[in-house]
Amino acid sequence: ATISLSDLEKIQVLGHGNGGTVYKVRHKRNSNIYALKVVHSDCDPINRRQIFREISILRRTDSPYVVKSHSVFEKPGGDVAILMEYMDRGTLENLIKSGVNFSEEILAKIAYQVVQGLEHLHSHKIIHRDLKPSNLLVNSEMEVKIADFGVSKIMCRTLDPCNSYVGTCAYMSPERFDPDTYGNNNDGSYNGYASDIWSLGLTLLELYLGHFPYLGEGQRPDWATLMCAICFGEPPSLPESVSKEFRSFIECCLQKDSSKRWKASQLLGHPFLQKVKRP
Ligand code: ADP
Ligand code: MG
Repeated sequence: ATISLSDLEKIQVLGHGNGGTVYKVRHKRNSNIYALKVVHSDCDPINRRQIFREISILRRTDSPYVVKSHSVFEKPGGDVAILMEYMDRGTLENLIKSGVNFSEEILAKIAYQVVQGLEHLHSHKIIHRDLKPSNLLVNSEMEVKIADFGVSKIMCRTLDPCNSYVGTCAYMSPERFDPDTYGNNNDGSYNGYASDIWSLGLTLLELYLGHFPYLGEGQRPDWATLMCAICFGEPPSLPESVSKEFRSFIECCLQKDSSKRWKASQLLGHPFLQKVKRP
């Protein structure tokens, strides 16, 4: 049966974001729980464009590693809402903030799922462009799913230039600031697929360290310094104490030269992911 908005009651706010709010909602008759992302009609046109972009991407994807959308509600010129599966442990950012220590075994499980999700997106010519802990959702079975496609891009042609400045600066790869040095498309644009892999590497490193890799614990970012560190510094790396597989995996993701960075399909065969038990 199709669900209508009047079947749903709001339970609580799960998060606020760009021009919208995500609610936990319950289906009044069968008590099923969902997440409902609502973007109001009076929001900025940019936010409105973002939610339609997100809807078109969610419609194209079908993967256990990408958050599922059940339906879309839209009044012409009015509010737009996406009904999604509810992820009961929130985001990986929440888990970092609550002080969870991620073992290598757990990190391999997380990495495996995010790489599967990226492989699915990239093979459908979708670049996420804003991969980071707050856009990765988790549930109590430790399933991890990629969410928030507001600034993602669908590549129409393989040579479509990918050069707009979107996403969260901190997780941007060197070639997004300086494609002439670190990009590889020969036309001044960067390889967006490779940029997602950089963001994956930083995200995993952040989960391991408990804080954003380029900054000390509790240190606030100064954007100019951070951008210089990303472009001119060595890529951040793991301490000596970790396994050589984990260290190598992070190195494969955090190659500054985007042409040397591994692709999602290659990472699936990396030794770090070989021990993960497949569901
Ligand atoms: P924004 O573009 O506003 O960042 P997100 O899709 O990232 O939108 O959602 C904002 C926040 O809402 C997330 O960081 C998360 O805390 C919460 N959230 C979003 N979707 C879900 C979901 N399916 N299940 C549980 N929480 C969610
Ligand atoms: Mg988000």
